[in-house]
Parts: sequence; structure tokens; C-alpha cells
Amino acid sequence: MPDAVTMDKIVSLSRRRGFVFPSSEIYGGMGSTFDYGHYGVLMKNNIRERWFEAMVRNRDDIVAIDSAIILHPKVWEASGHVAGFTDPLIDCRTCKLRFRADKLEDSQCGLKPSKHPGETPECDLTEPRRFNLMFETTVGALQEEGSRAYLRPETAQGIFINFKNVLQIARRKPPFGIAQIGKSFRNEITPGNFLFRVREFEQMEMEFFVPPDEAEKWYRYWIDERLNWYRRYGLRDSKLRVREHGPEERSHYSQGTSDIEYEYPIGWGELEGIANRGDFDLTQHAEYSTTKLEYVGQDGERYVPYVIEPAVSIERIMVALLIDAYDEEVVGERERTVLRLHPKMAPVTAAILPLIGKSDDMVAKARSLYEDLRRRHSVEYDDSGAIGRRYRRQDEIGTPWAFTVDEQTLADDTVTVRDRDSLAQERIPIAGVGDWLENALERDWKSPKAN
Ligand code: ATP
Repeated sequence: MPDAVTMDKIVSLSRRRGFVFPSSEIYGGMGSTFDYGHYGVLMKNNIRERWFEAMVRNRDDIVAIDSAIILHPKVWEASGHVAGFTDPLIDCRTCKLRFRADKLEDSQCGLKPSKHPGETPECDLTEPRRFNLMFETTVGALQEEGSRAYLRPETAQGIFINFKNVLQIARRKPPFGIAQIGKSFRNEITPGNFLFRVREFEQMEMEFFVPPDEAEKWYRYWIDERLNWYRRYGLRDSKLRVREHGPEERSHYSQGTSDIEYEYPIGWGELEGIANRGDFDLTQHAEYSTTKLEYVGQDGERYVPYVIEPAVSIERIMVALLIDAYDEEVVGERERTVLRLHPKMAPVTAAILPLIGKSDDMVAKARSLYEDLRRRHSVEYDDSGAIGRRYRRQDEIGTPWAFTVDEQTLADDTVTVRDRDSLAQERIPIAGVGDWLENALERDWKSPKAN
């Protein structure tokens, strides 16, 4: 059966269930900018948590940092962003739309959406111009020369400028890494496709500093690690691939770049980039800041480390997870929509439901179970409406399990566990629910959707 998912269905479910809202909607909206509702926040927290766990908590060789968003403007001169962080931009004098010259085949003509810009006789395109993607701002009360600053377009530079601090204070020796999660801003010319390309996004980047002769080995290592992370959290193999950039496609700093791509409904697109940045960044910052940025060993050995960087945004992961999880099926002649999310990515881990919302006894038991579980897990209590509707609501937000308190619970203190994917139900003692959940969360998980 073909995948039922489309980007429109994801956008509409995200909105309907309170994952993601178009931003500033009461003012008519702000294109390609989004606000996250309750479930969106919970899911983003999970993505962040799983990344941090894999990159920092479960390792001995990576430490965390949280640098400022507005850095010294010289940072962006040294990094090459002031001069080179540009996209080629083309305007159409007829329809007044603006396009990326290198993405015309992905764009629609403003007059005839079935055509690409430049394909109709009415199209009147300008020559491409370079457009810098950094958002500018001014710092301090006066808008004068010298007060210009930028919102960071990537978190990586905040890591490089702290290299010396970490080397000295955290007493690290290559190979070691510094990881950062935080907002980045890019004035994208053609944002779109929901969260895939937005102007403000949360990046998760890790710079891994290595001896130059080990760079290639670690580059391959991080491609594998990151690919396995996606597999572990349930993205299907058939929808994932690694694409290595040719020399002409690489950024100015890169000695090798591979994209982990996901097959979105709009086609294959970059999910995460893994780059071998060589010694470009440390060398540039050493030159511009006149601070030595190198590793000096006890035996006098000294070198500028090479850097391997896995870089991704929470937004791209969230879209990929939602798309991969989205499913529609007919159960007992009724259609249901279900998000088959990995249990550790789902916003709510379990729902606690009294079968009859008006039964005081069932409500009391269910509430007490809920109060107990909420201390350790993301759980939700719901007693409103028919049980079938409550299950469907949980299916749509991807809750893997529901514990239901019914007539029998009152007699023998057991509850039913309903599995979101198989719809199987089993009875377990109410006192064992916490442990059951703990174990279920640790089990290996594979998407029940066909590969
Ligand atoms: P693209 O070619 O899609 O513009 P890029 O190669 O410029 O992306 P990088 O600079 O490598 O992207 O950024 C690293 C990661 O940050 C990307 O793999 C993606 O996950 C994320 N990212 C970059 N730009 C955006 C954006 N506008 N919206 C959401 N996520 C983004």
C-alpha cells in the first residue's frame, strides 16, 4: 500500500492536535514562521533529550556549551559568513516573486504554478544577485557605524570561539567534542515546506576536534553514528540515505561533506549534514583574534585540530519523524489516523483513562495511577467523552500506550494496556504499571509501517 502521507496532512494534523501553529495568526500570519503548542513542545524536548543523551551524556569525550546568539561581529568576518553566506537571488519583474537561482526547478512560477520561473513567455527574470542570509541588528542605543551585529546563522562558531576555554578548563585532549543546542536564524529567500526550511530554527551541532591524520576516520565514524541514531528512533531504512557531496558542491571550509537525507513527500532532502571542516575555523579565528587556537601536548607536540561536524535542526527531525510515523487504517469499519512514533519521541508516553468518566470509583483509581506515573513519565489523564474517541485522540498524537481502569479494576486491581500499533490489549496489575512502562520504553523499537 502506498504511503498515505502528504505534507498537507502533516500540517493539518499538527495544527488540529496542537503540535504546531502558524505564527502570529491573529495578525494574518507571518510566512514560514511557526509557534509550537503543547505537544510540539513535548516532542521537541524529546528530540533534544535523545540527541543530548547520545552526544553528551552517554559519552566521555564530548562536553556541552551554550554560547550567545549575538556574538562579536568579527566572528562572522572570520568565519566567512559576512562575505560568503549568500544565496543567488532572482526577481521576476512580472509576478514580483523572488527565487533562489539554484533552486528554480523547485519553485513555481507566480502566474502559472505548473511551470517553473522563466518557463512562460511572460516571465521577466533579473540576473542573479548575491543575497546575504544573516539577519542584521544593532547593539546599543545608537544606530551608528560599528554597532551592527548579526543573529547567528549557525551555532558552530560559538563553539570554535570557546575552543581555548574548553581545552584549558575542561582539560580535554583531541579527539574530543563540544556540543551545542540553540536557535539559529537565516533570512531564507524561499522558505517553505512547513518546518523544513524556516527562518528561525533550533540547531543541534557538535564540533569534534581530532588530530589531522585521524580526520577521515572520524568523519566516517560520525556518518555511521548519526545514521544509526535515526534508525534507532524508528526512521525507516528505505527512507534514509547518505549522499556525499561532490567537490563543486562543498562549502568553502569543507574537505568532505555528506548529507543524511530523508525522503520527504517533497522528495529526498537534507536532514543532517556531516562535514569535515579541516582546520579552517580555528585557523581563521586565530588569525582574526590573534589568539593561538591549537592543541599543545605535554611532550611539546602541537597542531591545529581538524573538526568533524554533525549539524541538524530539531525542525527537520520533527518533520521527518511525523512523516515517517503518519498512518491511516481502517479498523472495524472505522478509519483511524495514527502517529506511529517511537515511544521515546512521542509527546505523551501513556494515557490513563477511566472507562466510564462518570464513575467516581473508576475516576479515583485512574487519577491515583496518573498522579503516581506523572512523577516519572509524560502521561495524560482524560475522562471526557466516549472511550473510543479518547483512544482515537491519543492515536493521533502518537501515544504508544493507554491504561484503562474499568469495572474489573474495581474488583481485582488490574488495568488493561492498549497498544497503539497492534491494538492488542492485555491485563496487568495496577501496582506493576510503572515497571511495565519502564521496561516497555527500553525495548528495541521498529516502525510497524512497511519498510
Ligand atoms: P540547505 O542546503 O537545505 O539550505 P544547508 O546545507 O545550508 O541546508 P547547513 O548549513 O549544513 O544547511 O545546516 C545544518 C543543518 O541545519 C541542516 O542539515 C538542517 O538540518 C538545518 N537547517 C539549515 N537551514 C535550515 C532552515 N532554514 N530551517 C530548518 N532547518 C535548517
